[in-house]
Amino acid sequence: MTRTDETTVTTTTDTATVTRLSPDGTVTTVVTTTIVTVPGPKVPALVESSVPEVSPLRSKVLVRSLSPDEDMIKSSGKIPKLVDLRIRPEPISLEPIRPEPIYTPQSQTMRLRRAQSTPAKIRAGSVRMLSCAYQKYAWGKCGAGSTARNMVMSASREHEKAGLSTSFTIPENVPVAEMWMGTHPSGMSRVLDKDGVSTSLLDYVRQDPDKHTGEGEDNLTFLFKVLSIGQVLSIQAHPDKHLAVRLHAARPTLYKDPNHKPEMAISLSDDTTALIGFRPIPEIYDNMIKYPEFAQAVGDRAVAMCASLAGLSSGYGASVGGDEMDRPVDEGRCWAALKEMFRTFVQSDRNEHVVKQVHAITKRLREKNKGDGETNVMEGVVLYFATIYPDDPCVLSPLFFNHVKIAKGQALYIRTNEPHAYISGELIECMACSDNVVRVGLTPKVKDTDTLLDMLTYRAGKPRLTYGERIDEHTTLYEPPVKDFCVETVILEPNGKSVIKPVPSPAILLCIEGGGSLHQEFADGTKKELKLSFGMSVFVSPNTSVEVSTEGGIMIARAMSNIHCS
Ligand SMILES: [Zn+2]
Repeated sequence: MTRTDETTVTTTTDTATVTRLSPDGTVTTVVTTTIVTVPGPKVPALVESSVPEVSPLRSKVLVRSLSPDEDMIKSSGKIPKLVDLRIRPEPISLEPIRPEPIYTPQSQTMRLRRAQSTPAKIRAGSVRMLSCAYQKYAWGKCGAGSTARNMVMSASREHEKAGLSTSFTIPENVPVAEMWMGTHPSGMSRVLDKDGVSTSLLDYVRQDPDKHTGEGEDNLTFLFKVLSIGQVLSIQAHPDKHLAVRLHAARPTLYKDPNHKPEMAISLSDDTTALIGFRPIPEIYDNMIKYPEFAQAVGDRAVAMCASLAGLSSGYGASVGGDEMDRPVDEGRCWAALKEMFRTFVQSDRNEHVVKQVHAITKRLREKNKGDGETNVMEGVVLYFATIYPDDPCVLSPLFFNHVKIAKGQALYIRTNEPHAYISGELIECMACSDNVVRVGLTPKVKDTDTLLDMLTYRAGKPRLTYGERIDEHTTLYEPPVKDFCVETVILEPNGKSVIKPVPSPAILLCIEGGGSLHQEFADGTKKELKLSFGMSVFVSPNTSVEVSTEGGIMIARAMSNIHCS
């Protein structure tokens, strides 16, 4: 374990909507409540995974903050415009230019990657500016500290300057938790035409599915987001495909689509932290010894089951959040022990007993904090949870879930049926096109404890983080083991120019940092440009080549179907 800089947890006053469901799955009451959170203790960031020393993502010329400062937001009109679309409003839909390789990959892997991703035939496609939805979840950040808010507002100002729509502002006290880019009905993006006319992205791609989504598809397979986390999210898991179909059929108001939701987070800040998957059994058993309240809460049976497994191997268990490389020593016994332990926390019949232990450990750790003893990182997270949800059994979850820091440029893949919760930070997230979340704790929203208890894989082990794979001079690929999505980041230094290689998948490009122009060339040789600056995103049809150029440097993320996955 390595301790790094400490992060202070901020305080907010939020309003949340609580939807209560009756046992048959129908909504019976909807209550709006105000959550007042009090100043939390300092939550030190924690690195529990070994990570490469150098991030290939970060360019030395693009090391400034990912969020523009307030002055920049207020005076965005002063940002030089590379192309004035009010003068030339037509080139929103553009013809492709032929791709010109500007870099020859050296390794076999690189050659293979490019061979797989290069379509057999480049055809005409579209590059269209998007206006994106945002979500005001109570856990989001308010004001200029929210990257999601900054992106939404920055893009809206640029759209107005380009004559595409009227700009808007989001009040300082409204939390902006997420910006959504894609076709999910809960946050549909819109394709902008001039003079304020727009079309939903789903309607747009369905006007010509062969051209816009590729063969055999009539929708995007992925959903792309920016998250700004002001307060811990719920302890949750996302269903696999079979479970998603069942959940959607039984409770369509709660589970809004029949799709699975594996997801991948790529951190945009150095304060991104999360809980992910069960710790290795020896660590959990250690915590049972060190924290008697924890052992009391789970009961003798779970302690005995973990004790019998703890001595087997220090590297016990399959890894979570990565490839399945470690083989569990005894998967069946591991599954049973973890399920027994987790059940005792979240099932209501033991709630009173567990909450008593939550109060006891909270009191003890607070006293330790006040006295000579200094709480460690994990204890700090327990205390932080207790300030927001003092009577929630999941306050103890850091004792049995891995707590990880996801450094800027690092990615964490979260498989379906794995428990997790983001705690802090700014990140981009890509996932299968779904909004299915099964919650169990640390939330005012609907919990579905029985479903969560049944669905979890109960794997134990260390999560794997990755800085992605460099596939050419400018591009880093983050590839999960599913077909639905992958993400590339492209970084150009000042005065740089590069072709974003065409792929046989629809894609969404998001400008994360800096700015520049997208160029396409028509068949008659004329070139068109589309300005792209912080927070702006565009839809790109499959097999469409786009050239990017920049004066001051630019960082772009491209989300698409996982064309590399066989
Ligand atoms: Zn999630």
